[in-house]
Amino acid sequence: MKNPKPKSAILIGLINRTQTEELLTEYMDELEFLALTFGAVTKKRYTQKLEKPDVRTFIGKGKLEEVKKFATDSKVDYLIFDDELSPSQLRNVEKELNPKDAEHIVRIHDRNSLILEIFAQRAQTAYAKTQVDLALYEYMLPRLTRLWTHLERQRGGTGTRGGSGESQIESDRRILRDRIALLKEQLKKIDKQMSTQRKNRGEFIRVALVGYTNVGKSTIMNMLSKSNVFAENKLFATLDTTVRKVVIENVPFLLSDTVGFIRKLPHQLVESFKSTLDEVREADILIHVADISDANFEAHINVVNETLLEIGANDKSILLVFNKIDAFTYVEKEADDLAPITRKNLSLEDLKKSWMSKLNTGCIFISAVQKDNIAELRKTIYGMVKEMHMKRYPYNKLLY
Ligand code: GDP
Ligand code: MG
Repeated sequence: MKNPKPKSAILIGLINRTQTEELLTEYMDELEFLALTFGAVTKKRYTQKLEKPDVRTFIGKGKLEEVKKFATDSKVDYLIFDDELSPSQLRNVEKELNPKDAEHIVRIHDRNSLILEIFAQRAQTAYAKTQVDLALYEYMLPRLTRLWTHLERQRGGTGTRGGSGESQIESDRRILRDRIALLKEQLKKIDKQMSTQRKNRGEFIRVALVGYTNVGKSTIMNMLSKSNVFAENKLFATLDTTVRKVVIENVPFLLSDTVGFIRKLPHQLVESFKSTLDEVREADILIHVADISDANFEAHINVVNETLLEIGANDKSILLVFNKIDAFTYVEKEADDLAPITRKNLSLEDLKKSWMSKLNTGCIFISAVQKDNIAELRKTIYGMVKEMHMKRYPYNKLLY
């Protein structure tokens, strides 16, 4: 990966009725992790209590001054907003932070453009690259500023800083529109090929691993298929879908590892990854992986369920797998502690009981790294695949 020296970042978020201080901390922790995945270390967080984002500059003028001072003094590379910036907000913030005579340039991102940049860094196949470029370019088209460097190659070296910023933006827009049209064409072709490929996978039952990002999907994929899928402690380590044939007992099926879901991902972005998500949509069985060692795992489960609903994949057979039980911790309540029991006080046993009774589809608690309960996981998947196979091919008992 080409990340020479770590860059620095400032994070900015708002506190209001729908986004309490506690919730914002959670979002900002995640944003900090995203920034790190992108290659930037967070130097400082700024939060402001504002019922609605300032229409001009997202945060108030005074606050932005404060941010600017710190950014310039400490030569910070990126300013990252936790929520989407409108095109005009982005332009205004950029003007404030990087006036024409500025010696130090701070690049501005919002959560969406940051996620797209990460996708772009990590896309491996031509297919993933095409999807990401398209999403990134469509997001940037109305938001172009003279600091957007992605088009340098296409500009033929004419676009330099300073000079005629406006005409550079105009010509960049033209380049972008052409690129978008071309990418759409390419994507249409690849989509057709991919859908034929998927059809050619024959009568295998298809199982897809889904879940929030970084929960251990790729680790489970590796374990079940003995393949070598890239797994690391970063968000979105995998963007491309990997499909492997897996055999448990004598039952073969196809297992696919998919891109992780994340919150605050706007609908139009989910839309851009539709073809990647087809893998999920066309699966017969979903293994929904959750990271039980993460304090926010319940919120993450909800985000995944909502996204599944959004892409129309919520009516499948779903097995909920709680991973990372080895890293699970809780605060045991003292007998004389009269404070009400909260989520923090629940043991693994308590959580197991409550989830088992809540779900009629069942759930399993495992550690993919320590290989705990893997036999049970295999057995359950085997049972589900076998049942699905018998339902679909009642006359074909050959396999069993
Ligand atoms: P993905 O984004 O869902 O594909 O997650 P990965 O498989 O890339 O795993 C993310 C991180 O979680 C990696 O650092 C894994 O080593 C770690 N991880 C995966 N499974 C477990 C587990 O059972 N226990 C612990 N402690 N860590 C795990
Ligand atoms: Mg992965």
